[in-house]
Amino acid sequence: MANFAIDAVKATTYDAIVIGSGISGGWAAKELTEKGLRTLVLERGRDVKHVVDYPTTMLNTWEMEHRGQLPLGIRQENPIVGKCYAFHEASAHFFVKDAEHPYVQEKPFDWIRGYQVGGKSLLWARQTQRWSQFDFDGPARDGFAVEWPIGYADIAPWYSHVEKFAGITGNKDGLAQLPDGEFLPPHEWNCVEKYFSQQMAAKYKDRPVIMGRAAHITQPQPIHLQQGRAKCQHRNICVRGCPFGGYFSSNASTLPWAAKTGKLTLRPHSVVHSIIYDEKKGKATGVRVIDANTKEMIEFYARIIFVNAAAMNTNLVLLNSTSNRFPNGLGNDSGVLGKYVAFHNYRAGISGEYDGFLDSTTEGRRPNGPYIPRFRNVFKQETDFLRGYAAGFSANRMSRTNQDGFGVDLKNSLANPTLGGWSVNSHMMGETIPKVTNFVALDKDLKDPFGIPQIRFSVAYDDNDDKMVKDYQEQMMEMFTAAGFKNLRVRDENRNPGIDIHEMGGVRMGKDPKTSMLNKWSQLHHCKNVFVTDGASMTSTSTQNPSLTYMALTARAADYAVKEMKKMNL
Ligand SMILES: Cc1cc2nc3c(=O)[nH]c(=O)nc-3n(C[C@H](O)[C@H](O)[C@H](O)COP(=O)(O)OP(=O)(O)OC[C@H]3O[C@@H](n4cnc5c(N)ncnc54)[C@H](O)[C@@H]3O)c2cc1C
Repeated sequence: MANFAIDAVKATTYDAIVIGSGISGGWAAKELTEKGLRTLVLERGRDVKHVVDYPTTMLNTWEMEHRGQLPLGIRQENPIVGKCYAFHEASAHFFVKDAEHPYVQEKPFDWIRGYQVGGKSLLWARQTQRWSQFDFDGPARDGFAVEWPIGYADIAPWYSHVEKFAGITGNKDGLAQLPDGEFLPPHEWNCVEKYFSQQMAAKYKDRPVIMGRAAHITQPQPIHLQQGRAKCQHRNICVRGCPFGGYFSSNASTLPWAAKTGKLTLRPHSVVHSIIYDEKKGKATGVRVIDANTKEMIEFYARIIFVNAAAMNTNLVLLNSTSNRFPNGLGNDSGVLGKYVAFHNYRAGISGEYDGFLDSTTEGRRPNGPYIPRFRNVFKQETDFLRGYAAGFSANRMSRTNQDGFGVDLKNSLANPTLGGWSVNSHMMGETIPKVTNFVALDKDLKDPFGIPQIRFSVAYDDNDDKMVKDYQEQMMEMFTAAGFKNLRVRDENRNPGIDIHEMGGVRMGKDPKTSMLNKWSQLHHCKNVFVTDGASMTSTSTQNPSLTYMALTARAADYAVKEMKKMNL
């Protein structure tokens, strides 16, 4: 009998466990398996195999039951995720259904999730910018949150490492506030975008308009071909999953790469309940999982654990990992677990029209667009709010199709739309300040369908965010006017926190274990064999799209963890 027990433990024991298979978990799996670790990836959702599990990827809009739209009933059943711009008939299967995954909104928070192998890497808009030293300096310089324990020099080689593998298109712009990376050739401008960029360069010293940097393969390198990925086809229906692997997703890239090592075990339908802490050993020994199909609780064991469940779920897992030693959540001696949550604010935008370049139009599609790096409070404090915003920009030729008539006449008029002027658009990408009053906690009474306490959100905008929205509107109005754009309309959509998806914090990095959860290696100060490398670890948010930084932090932490395992018997 005893032997059976030992065999059973052996069968569920690995070198490493990774919780979550999205962008950061996929990177943890790749790095750890490549370094020879038998790695178990636990994913709460179903499996999504590259290519074969992208059911809508080859469909034309007219081949879908609702022509790409979602019926009112589905929208009404999903009041939260239904607000996400990317949720439609071709992509709905990669989003969670609201009713199946309840959470508590002490204050309104639109929590957008993708629970499946690959996580939100199948849904993301693939924008990838590096942080600069100015971003890491933010909290200490401006006196909020805590000081970052790392700087640009610590992460720069890891940005290069992940960029080369993922494939990032971009232009070397030579900007101090947005360091260049290992870029594949950039996407092309259209004439109005180029014109706007030139106008801004002539008028402002510090407001460059650059081509976006994005995780698309514009010129495959041997490393991409080895992954079985090909050049991006500019289909612009990325959210359905890309059969060419033209953009980076865990499903197309890191997970199959990890599987090829022979060291990966991927277990879908495995909802991690908590991390097991062994007081005698003074470390975590494994995780408790609820099998989503059988509802059975199973334990898995490993020497190191990477928590990559996406920021808020990572908070939930740690808060739910209680023991005599850690009654308030794993590693939470400081009491900061769940606190200092921050997010991105995309509330504001501006649109207008331009009546130049009427002899030109665009051809084809482009899965990317121009980007205006942050220009407020970068080098010094210059406004009555802290931090700043980046902005997206795009210009498109407006067209009208005449839908009258039948048969050949209708086809001809649809194929030959009447061209109008150009529309120009921008949206704000603002930084929010992590505050102790923006937090998540476990609800004392309510449980999810797996018997796990529901997470409770108490997260809101503040005065700083409102001032930033106003400044974005004023500055963009000035910039659009200077470029000769007309009929300008600014907006503040006043949407709830969360809908802009980039959730961060709660398990922040910091130098001092009394005020932070993680050290400079993304390792829990008080439970050294547990690493957190998703958005939960972010001390502050800056304005860049965050996922590239999670990838780099993950690869960096994995490298350290494997070296430490040998040295410190982790
Ligand atoms: C429409 C959209 C557009 C976006 N655009 C961009 C962009 O342009 N640039 C950018 O940088 N980011 C963008 N993002 C955000 C980006 O997708 C996330 O930052 C990124 O996926 C986070 O990686 P992650 O590994 O932390 O989480 P995810 O990719 O969400 O993966 C987390 C995984 O953990 C699993 N999981 C959760 N809880 C548990 C549990 N208890 N047990 C087991 N498994 C669990 C989930 O099912 C999921 O598969 C976008 C997101 C969306 C939805």
